[in-house]
Amino acid sequence: MIKIRVIIILSLLTISNGYSQEIEKRYHSVPNAHYEHTDGPYVFIEKNGLIEKTIKKGMVFSRVLAAGMYDTVFPPEKSTYHTKKNIVALSDLHGQYDLAVKLFRNNKIIDKNLNWNFGKGHLVIVGDIFDRGDKVNELLWLIYKLEGQAKNEGGRVHFLLGNHEYMVLHNDLRYIHEKYNLTSELLNVAYNDLYGLNTVLGRWLRSKSTILKINNTVFVHGGVSADFMAVNDIDFDTINDIMRKSINRSKKEMKATDFYNIYYGDKSLIWYRGYFKDNLSETDITNLLKMVNSEHIVVGHCSNEEVVPLFNNKIFGVDSSIKKGKYGEVLFIKNKKFSRGTLDGKKIHF
Ligand code: CA
Repeated sequence: MIKIRVIIILSLLTISNGYSQEIEKRYHSVPNAHYEHTDGPYVFIEKNGLIEKTIKKGMVFSRVLAAGMYDTVFPPEKSTYHTKKNIVALSDLHGQYDLAVKLFRNNKIIDKNLNWNFGKGHLVIVGDIFDRGDKVNELLWLIYKLEGQAKNEGGRVHFLLGNHEYMVLHNDLRYIHEKYNLTSELLNVAYNDLYGLNTVLGRWLRSKSTILKINNTVFVHGGVSADFMAVNDIDFDTINDIMRKSINRSKKEMKATDFYNIYYGDKSLIWYRGYFKDNLSETDITNLLKMVNSEHIVVGHCSNEEVVPLFNNKIFGVDSSIKKGKYGEVLFIKNKKFSRGTLDGKKIHF
């Protein structure tokens, strides 16, 4: 805490004549990073209310928010939905806020003011908003806002957790953008605790599902493997509940049994890459679809240059490499028809 105060005082003292030597030394690899650092808001749920912390140009601003400004209780999401409306899916946004906004706007999912524009449709984020990029927090708040707006219009936003959500929530910070080390230091809060149980977004994240079924289509970040289904029932509510509860379990404890391997191993819902790597036959896929009583599975996690159909449209891969920050696509599903939406908003039917 003392260190943080020193940094803030130093930055106050030296704001007019460049940055202090101490700060220069500590952030020499990123010139001026400290002064240009802007992040947040992070909203903490404390005894005396909601505390919002924001960083602007290296300075931390705190304020107490009016009670009720944000929900603090988020019931677990449902695992199954039916709709006759449009469905749109994408994944692996990895902090690429600006590109995601462009993709959403051009495909009319949001309007020019970043508000929900998809009516009663369903938007599915198939995991991995966290890590790599430098606008993770902005993206989470955008999805949070759209979720509320969609609900008000009879639509839905589903944010499914991917391996990178689980990594960060389990304090595996190997892939966070370096910017977030500075945020963590300035706020004096470990990065994973910025999304901990006493934060608005942390509780919101802990209400999310890992696997979802809409109509005849399953959505899941990595995929459903035969190995996974061999030891799990088709009851998605139960599976989601197991995953949700595992967020607050230690890795060590989970690794003491088969649990970690089943739910976090390479055949798990969040890490599986089999549709792309395992040379499965179409019969294998048909059998898998029977196991989950569905006709299609939509996955992220394996990066391609665009949205890709596999096994005669039984499987769709929606990780279109948004993480590179250059291009991205979405998958539309309407009346059992599939098409991909390009970054420019063109629709190409499969
Ligand atoms: Ca992934």
